[in-house]
Amino acid sequence: MSPRAQILPVFVPQLGCPHRCVFCDQRRISGQARPVTADEIQTITDQAAAFLPRGEKRQLAFYGGSFTAIPAARQEELLGAAKAAMERGAIDAIRLSTRPDAIDGEVLERLRRYGVETVELGAQSMDDGVLRRSGRGHTASDVERAAREIKAAGFRLVLQMMTGLPGDSPEKDLETARRLIALRPDGVRIYPTVIVRGTPLEALWRAGEYREHTVEDAVAVCARLLPLFEAAGVPVLRLGLNPTEELSGGEAVGGAYHPALGELVRSRVLLDRARALLTGVPAGSAVTLGVPTGKASQMAGQKRGNLRALTEEFSLSGLKIREIPGQTEEIRVLSVEKN
Ligand code: SF4
Repeated sequence: MSPRAQILPVFVPQLGCPHRCVFCDQRRISGQARPVTADEIQTITDQAAAFLPRGEKRQLAFYGGSFTAIPAARQEELLGAAKAAMERGAIDAIRLSTRPDAIDGEVLERLRRYGVETVELGAQSMDDGVLRRSGRGHTASDVERAAREIKAAGFRLVLQMMTGLPGDSPEKDLETARRLIALRPDGVRIYPTVIVRGTPLEALWRAGEYREHTVEDAVAVCARLLPLFEAAGVPVLRLGLNPTEELSGGEAVGGAYHPALGELVRSRVLLDRARALLTGVPAGSAVTLGVPTGKASQMAGQKRGNLRALTEEFSLSGLKIREIPGQTEEIRVLSVEKN
C-alpha cells in the first residue's frame, strides 16, 4: 500500500495569472497575503520533517496561482528550494497547480528537471460559454491538450472542476465530469462556486446577473458527480473549498461555502442510494439498514435529516441504522418488518 499523503500547501496567491477569473480572490480564499519565498520553503519543509509522522509521504504543494505562468526565474527559485528540500529528505514530492494555457513542452521540461511529481490543472468547466463568462481566458480544448501533454510527459495529473459558475447548469457540470474522466486523471477536486467578497462575481450577483449556487444546489449536483467519478475509478480528493478563518468569518458572502460540504455530499449520496433500495418496500414497514462501521452518522444525515426524509417518503413506521463490522456494501437492507 502506498504511504498516506501529507500535503504541505504553500501559496503563490494569483501569481502568474494573466486574467482575473470572476470568482477568484486567492488572498481571501487562501488567507495568504503574499507569495511564499524560497527561504520560507526551507523553514516550512524542515519543520515538516521534524514534526510530521514518519511513513507519510510529504508533498510540498504550490497552490493559489498559475505556477507555470510565473516568470521562469522565479519558478526556478521556488522549485530550487523545493528540490533542495527533497534532496535532504525533508519532503518526498512536489506538486503544483496551474492553468491549462500555461502548459507546453518547455514548461514540462522545467518541472521534470526539478522533480515535480503532480500537476494540478484548473479546468473548472468543459463548457466554453461557462469558461468565457467566468473570465477564464482559455477553452475546453486547452484543458484537453494540456492534460494529454502532462500525462504523456509522465506526471501525475489532478483536474479541478467547479460547479455553479456563471452560465452553468447541473447538466453542464455532469458533462464536464464526463469529459474530465475521459482524460484519465489520477484524481479530481470539485469546488462548487463560492461568492467571495470583492470579486467581480460578487458584483454580478448583487446586480442580479448571476444566480447564487447555494449549498443545497452544490450538494444536489455533487451527489451526482461523486458516483460518476467513483464508478470511473477517479478519486475525488476534495469537495469544496478548504475552510479558512477568512471565509468562515464573512469573506464568503454567498454561494456554496460550507465547512463540511464533502460530508453533506457523501451523506446525500447515501440518501439517494437508500431511496433506490427502499423502492417497493410496503408502507408502514419498519426497516433496518446496515452500513459499514463509522458510517451511521453519514447515513443519518445532518440532524438526522436523511432518516426523517426516508421515513416520510416511504411512509415507514420505523427506520434504524446499524453499523455492521466488515460490511463491504455502502448500504444494505438488513430487515423489513411489516406491521
Ligand atoms: S487562474 Fe486560478 S488562481 Fe488565477 S485568477 Fe483564475 S482561478 Fe484564480
